[in-house]
Amino acid sequence: MRILVTGGAGFIGSHLCERLLGEGHEVLCLDNFFTGSKGNIEPLLDHHRFELIRHDITQPILLEVERVYNLACPASPIHYQYNPVKTIKTSVLGTIHMLGLAKRVRARILQASTSEVYGDPQVHPQTENYWGHVNPIGIRSCYDEGKRVAETLMMDYHRQNQVDIRIVRIFNTYGPRMAVNDGRVVSNFIVQALRGEDLTVYGDGSQTRSFCYVDDLVEGMIRMMEREAVTGPLNLGNPAETSILEFAQRIIDLTGSTSRIVFKPLPADDPQQRRPEISMAREMLGWQPDVPLEAGLRKTIDYFTALLARG
Ligand code: NAD
Ligand code: UDP
Repeated sequence: MRILVTGGAGFIGSHLCERLLGEGHEVLCLDNFFTGSKGNIEPLLDHHRFELIRHDITQPILLEVERVYNLACPASPIHYQYNPVKTIKTSVLGTIHMLGLAKRVRARILQASTSEVYGDPQVHPQTENYWGHVNPIGIRSCYDEGKRVAETLMMDYHRQNQVDIRIVRIFNTYGPRMAVNDGRVVSNFIVQALRGEDLTVYGDGSQTRSFCYVDDLVEGMIRMMEREAVTGPLNLGNPAETSILEFAQRIIDLTGSTSRIVFKPLPADDPQQRRPEISMAREMLGWQPDVPLEAGLRKTIDYFTALLARG
């Protein structure tokens, strides 16, 4: 198949492009390189079935494809808050443009939504039928509300124009090719530990997250895309939950670092707890994460060790 991956030069997108090429598809990787990098897709550039398109999805584009994975959007708080108006435009205008494209060429489209649509959740673990608890005017809302509107657009194009849609709600994902400077907890803690710097726990570290290794996530995304007669939304994540303080200690242990833990102010609207309920993915896709946290973290630590050694 001819497959478009928007945000294909980003962390998750580059793994997805690699996997789709490996399955024999033709891959069009579209990216504006805001948070993605050529380095992430360097090994793919010479592949005869790989094409790179430098484009911003807030502008329309017409391409002939059979599948669209819509991942373009900055995902870490410091990046999506850097230019919040651009972030919400990317989710709203970008998703309209991708849906318009899918409608015109009758492509199937999968939207990378997020656990952030649940906001600071009052239902735990989070099930797909929970409508969430999002602050519509806070500093995270350019991302959270943008993704919520993107889900609305997907459902409305489906109901009104019969566009063949899939929505996955992705929970915290980690692995090689996360950006060193993107401010997310996994990359921050590993890089701090490897450099012997203090690990910066925000708040008292009692907030929880559930971390999924990128290969598991990509497997779930592809299964969802190719499953017939479903739309989602469907949660994809690893239900193994950890507090951020425990997580910091774990990174120190795994890296053998001498770093200490220091406490910094908790950012506004930081969700207190997060864990996916994945029964629906288990039943509908036969999917569940396979990579244990320690194994995934070791691969990620190896990646950052090599990257920092290169300087
Ligand atoms: P990332 O920042 O590494 O990748 C996003 C990519 O989109 C980058 O390559 C960036 O340059 C590109 N991009 C941003 N705005 C664009 C625009 N206007 N036009 C074209 N390209 C644009 O982030 P990621 O972690 O790989 O996330 C990928 C997708 O998955 C995002 O949509 C994100 O919201 C979603 N998601 C990620 C996580 C996670 O834990 N990583 C969790 C939930 C949802
Ligand atoms: N966090 C932290 N120290 C850091 C970066 C993040 O304690 O250096 C916390 C952050 O406040 C949040 C959790 O780790 O509670 C996950 O943050 P991240 O930005 O990775 O993802 P998100 O909040 O979007 O789930």
